[in-house]
Amino acid sequence: MTTSREWLDRIHALPLPRKVKVMNVCGGHERSIAMAGLRKALPANIELVPGPGCPVCVCPEEAVYQAIQLALVEKVILVAFGDMLRVPVNVAKRDVRSLEQARAAGGDVRPVASPMEAVAIARANPDRPVVFFAAGFETTTAPVAAMLAEGVPDNLSVLLAGRRTWPAVAMLLDSEAPGFDALIAPGHVSTVMGPQEWAFVPEKHGIPTAVAGFTSETLVAALYSVLRQLVEGRCFLDNCYPEVVRPGGNPTARRQLAAMMDVVDANWRGVGVIPASGYALKPTLRTHDASALFPSFEDAARKRAGQMPPGCDCARVVLGRVYPDECVLYGRACTPRTPIGPCMVSDEGACRIWWASGVRTPRARAEADAPV
Ligand code: SF4
Repeated sequence: MTTSREWLDRIHALPLPRKVKVMNVCGGHERSIAMAGLRKALPANIELVPGPGCPVCVCPEEAVYQAIQLALVEKVILVAFGDMLRVPVNVAKRDVRSLEQARAAGGDVRPVASPMEAVAIARANPDRPVVFFAAGFETTTAPVAAMLAEGVPDNLSVLLAGRRTWPAVAMLLDSEAPGFDALIAPGHVSTVMGPQEWAFVPEKHGIPTAVAGFTSETLVAALYSVLRQLVEGRCFLDNCYPEVVRPGGNPTARRQLAAMMDVVDANWRGVGVIPASGYALKPTLRTHDASALFPSFEDAARKRAGQMPPGCDCARVVLGRVYPDECVLYGRACTPRTPIGPCMVSDEGACRIWWASGVRTPRARAEADAPV
């Protein structure tokens, strides 16, 4: 098997004529890249740009606010994946700003690691409404669909914020400045949905693309594939994770997604509505749809305050427009202990990943402090 070192040697030997930017879509990829120090091992003319791969970061602010209000006002048992609990919403400092604070204020908020835990909580509390706040990409939404397909207790409903990854990349590519020359496509999403979902990138946009796994070897192999495509003037979809990613993906998961959910236009926090980028429960599941069962706490005046806290650059970080340490709040007001935006909360958020990998200084300050 070819080692990371050998792949890196091949990358260094490529006669790249210019600076190239390669976007990696997946938060898991970004974590592997940052923790392995891969950027430092690459030639200076290759940039790796983290993309829209953090579902917690793009979960609309109003959905988090709704979940908080369901816990506090409707007195439901609110269950959510642990990452969501610290995501802040845009309210005055004296108000409850996260599910974690809602729990401290008396709300019954419980972290779960899987949909089955949500079902178990509902079964254990048959006299209380239980709302599962399910935010995630295809990999997380498919198990929610499986849970619904198997049947859930009457008292369990879902507040769904499921998102599809490829439409966000399509939106970038349809923009005037996509900001990247090649794409590393997500391995886990491709496992569920199949690699063919990314074929439009080379076929329609002429951008070399490779699906990667999560070890350094498979990531660097995918990187070599797209760089070599650029050098040779070729362009195709390369599956560099074939041991897990199969043509067609996971047929059962895709069937359950199609049976339980409709594809809808959906809001991405700070980004706006992206066509066909979200999931909604089918109308036949209305009795388990929290958005139909409970009042909406949407507040136009509060919404005008914006999706992101003032000064937070999460939306541009998510779209690969800036690097995390280019945000003026990075490492100053915003740290994992005092997160301002969602990208510093989630394990898949680029800001938190960069912080965890040892980047502790905002870029402007680091450059100003650099020896001349
Ligand atoms: S450093 Fe904090 S405020 Fe800035 S983009 Fe990242 S999460 Fe948002």
